[in-house]
Amino acid sequence: MDIISHALIGAAIGEIGATRSWRRVGWCAVLAASADFPQALLLYPYVAYVHGRADFIPRLTDWEHFRSAHAVASAIWELPHSVFFLALVIVPLVLYTRLPRTCIAAYASHIFIDIFTHTGEWSVAPLWPLAWRVEGFCDPWRWTPAEWATSIGTCAALWLVVGWLAARYARRRAPVALPPS
Ligand SMILES: [Zn+2]
Repeated sequence: MDIISHALIGAAIGEIGATRSWRRVGWCAVLAASADFPQALLLYPYVAYVHGRADFIPRLTDWEHFRSAHAVASAIWELPHSVFFLALVIVPLVLYTRLPRTCIAAYASHIFIDIFTHTGEWSVAPLWPLAWRVEGFCDPWRWTPAEWATSIGTCAALWLVVGWLAARYARRRAPVALPPS
């Protein structure tokens, strides 16, 4: 799935809490998208470089057979999409930096969603470095701009709905102010 949809789902998860916190919403959005940061910063330009693209933007076909031919470079993508990375790096990092614990769920949402939205060569190996892969049921990498827009719009709507429900729940739980005596 695309990085913006991941961030919006993270923001929706960040709405879950006793009171609304923009700090929690913001960090959850960042953590939910962050599994793709190393890939966006390093792997994308490297794939383009390997294929001699002067603009450092890889074409769709450049990704074909790349994973098997460049296992070490592909680890930039594999590692943050592994539940071991979540357990051994993200969980301690969130606890040590005292970020909201919901951030752990936000990061986990990225791996969970990618499991279902990656197919074929780039299907997720959630137990990486173990090779076992899960075959997803759609392939967003080949989506049209309209399909991307639908995904982002749906995830934005999800955030709005969860935010509205969470605010309603928080209002109901708020203590009733007693009149001064
Ligand atoms: Zn991803």
